[in-house]
Amino acid sequence: METQTISKDETSCGPPADLGVPPIECRNLWKIYGDREKEALEAMKKENLNKEEVLARFGCGVGVVDASFTVNQGEIFCIMGLSGSGKSTLVRHVNRLIDPTAGSVLIEGKDINAMSMEQLRQTRAEKIGMVFQNMSLLPHKNVRQNVAFGLELRGIARKDRNKVAEEALEIVHLSEWGDCYPDELSGGMQQRVGLARALAADPSILLMDEPFSALDPLIRRQLQDQFLELSEKMNKTTLFITHDLDEAIRIGNRIAIMKDGVLVQIGTPEEIVTKPADDYVADFVAGISRLHLVYAHTVMWSLEYFKKRYPAVSLENCPTASPNEDLDALIDIMVGTDEKYISIIDCGKCVGVVTRGSLLRGIQGKEMDED
Ligand code: ADP
Ligand code: MG
Repeated sequence: METQTISKDETSCGPPADLGVPPIECRNLWKIYGDREKEALEAMKKENLNKEEVLARFGCGVGVVDASFTVNQGEIFCIMGLSGSGKSTLVRHVNRLIDPTAGSVLIEGKDINAMSMEQLRQTRAEKIGMVFQNMSLLPHKNVRQNVAFGLELRGIARKDRNKVAEEALEIVHLSEWGDCYPDELSGGMQQRVGLARALAADPSILLMDEPFSALDPLIRRQLQDQFLELSEKMNKTTLFITHDLDEAIRIGNRIAIMKDGVLVQIGTPEEIVTKPADDYVADFVAGISRLHLVYAHTVMWSLEYFKKRYPAVSLENCPTASPNEDLDALIDIMVGTDEKYISIIDCGKCVGVVTRGSLLRGIQGKEMDED
């Protein structure tokens, strides 16, 4: 199901990225809630039962169905789905808050379910930070003490942990608020304290379960921007859960769409929008603007096809663009020229041609060779 195309940050001519051991890997993960989970699992595998049938026959709830995915170093991987689709169930496996019915989760290559309690405690404390929808801050501790709390539990001296807490508060732009108490802060600020608390332990992995979902749209947008900015600086690997496709598209390098426990599609925002795997995903993406999501390499004609169709046309005087230019930028280029074509150049070579027709079709979301 996973496909590989040029993402917005890479060109096809650079050296391949060294991906190493992935920070998070889920392999055929299943979670069925209820006493008869194993029986239900066998029946689901054999008879392809749906959620309702499993509930009727076994009295079991279906959380996650055969989920496999890898989150790469530094990536923000979003899991998007409606309420009840299994997102929280899935993410809770990653720090082993719950045990799977079947399958495994590897953290930096190590099976988290095979770890001893001591190894698990250490992995959680040092590698994984978690942010929830409603961060329950400790009401009788001030903001700085809340941020430092995890370090306090680990026995780190007050002076040292306060210093780390100050740094974490600075990252989320709350330096001035260290002495205040949680009830003096707005919801958005409390979520930022929660994020600072997770960052204080300097984890390499962040798990974020709908961290901004309870906030007003404007505040949510500000926090998304802030998060993207700090994420770029810190090079952490993030598993980000949301029920909002717009948020997933803004935040995610890749998105997994979840329905009734199943990951129905995994791809870049562009792949999800241009090639939805089924009607469910297509419905989700129907209202999404393609201008900043779809790139020249998707809408262009191959040079070969262009030459076959217009053998006499020279591209010599045409404006040029890279394969990673988005539709919005291509429109600007097309509007600014009297030429009818944009030559798409990769590694110094023409690899394709964007025509006025292919550009307009790209904006519409229709196949380019309908022209
Ligand atoms: P989401 O986070 O996408 O809203 P959840 O992971 O919370 O979805 O829930 C997925 C499904 O698993 C739902 O049908 C929910 O009722 C069920 N579920 C979640 N937690 C439990 C639990 N502790 N016991 C039984 N069923 C549960
Ligand atoms: Mg949830």
